[in-house]
Amino acid sequence: MADRYDAVVLGGGHHSTIIACYLARAGLSVGVFERSGRLGGAALSGPGPLRGYTMNHYSHWTRFYAHPAYRDFDLRAEGLRYVFPEGNEAMVFDDGSAFVGWSAYRVVDEVGGQAAWAEGMARTEAAIREFSSVDADTYLRVRDGYDAEWKQAFGRHRYTVPPPWGTPDPLEALMREGGLIEPVHQFMSVRQLAYDFFAGDELRTLFMRAATTSAGAYPDDVLGLQGLVHVLALTLSLEPAAIAVGGTGAITDALVRAGRRRGVEYHTHAPVARILGADGRASGIVLGDGTRVGADLVVSGLGMPRRCWSSWRTCRAARASTTGCATSTSTAAS
Ligand SMILES: Cc1cc2nc3c(=O)[nH]c(=O)nc-3n(C[C@H](O)[C@H](O)[C@H](O)COP(=O)(O)OP(=O)(O)OC[C@H]3O[C@@H](n4cnc5c(N)ncnc54)[C@H](O)[C@@H]3O)c2cc1C
Repeated sequence: MADRYDAVVLGGGHHSTIIACYLARAGLSVGVFERSGRLGGAALSGPGPLRGYTMNHYSHWTRFYAHPAYRDFDLRAEGLRYVFPEGNEAMVFDDGSAFVGWSAYRVVDEVGGQAAWAEGMARTEAAIREFSSVDADTYLRVRDGYDAEWKQAFGRHRYTVPPPWGTPDPLEALMREGGLIEPVHQFMSVRQLAYDFFAGDELRTLFMRAATTSAGAYPDDVLGLQGLVHVLALTLSLEPAAIAVGGTGAITDALVRAGRRRGVEYHTHAPVARILGADGRASGIVLGDGTRVGADLVVSGLGMPRRCWSSWRTCRAARASTTGCATSTSTAAS
């Protein structure tokens, strides 16, 4: 292991495996430090549940074929391929009835290009109409809005830097009083949104289920605009279902291959205990075994709450035992 890199990345999870490739592409030497024995974080697959099978331990349903990194690092050539089932979302209800949603779009080429799929839309509309005509009409209106504006706005929102404060971002620009997405929606809870958009219990349930599993938002949480568009698209099968061949871990494997090709060094069983700082700048890391690794750039892939929590604990421990840590460690913010 080198004792210095241009950039060190904390954690070897999904986001770290992406950013490491971009840092290396920018010409930096990069070291990734992961505390567990496996890279990928929640983008991980392994043996099970029966002998001879592979299962995803966490993330299951991904669309990495649409991520800029898929093209930027030619991840298809690195072995990441997808299959696209026609059936999209399904739910069985207590009374034995069931709903199956069909994709509104189909992936038509190897780089994620899509085309509208009229048959899928007709099937979804018919499936919803069996429960509620009002909700089937809502499906048509939301689908038209998604097709005309939301889909593009969602992509721009995800993959471009935020505009300056005060300038509406691509999703905020969709809000209109009396329109399908109104300003008040950005402050509503998951439950309120489910009742505002849908008349029947079936789609309300499906909406709340999608919010929980895909946005981590429970019925009384505020979902926000990004969550709303995302969860509506899931509920109504507006995006194609997609499964990575070999499981979600195939995303990690392809990214790591692309990173290694560009010189990234990945270190597992390497927990980061502390971020070093000098003159108000992060200047490296200390591993669990005390090893120091210097860097011009320290990138945390641990998520803000975890990073701040562990920095705060480090600070508190340092204050209790010595004169303080303000000059010897830096927080995620700095
Ligand atoms: C149960 C579940 C289901 C999900 N389903 C989906 C899905 O179907 N589709 C989808 O797109 N997304 C899904 N997600 C979300 C997706 O998995 C996450 O958004 C993504 O994994 C987050 O990536 P990350 O790099 O921020 O964090 P993680 O992938 O969690 O990676 C963080 C990494 O940091 C490491 N680490 C922590 N502390 C240290 C330390 N001190 N030193 C070194 N390393 C450290 C951890 O071991 C881990 O490897 C799901 C998540 C979960 C939990």
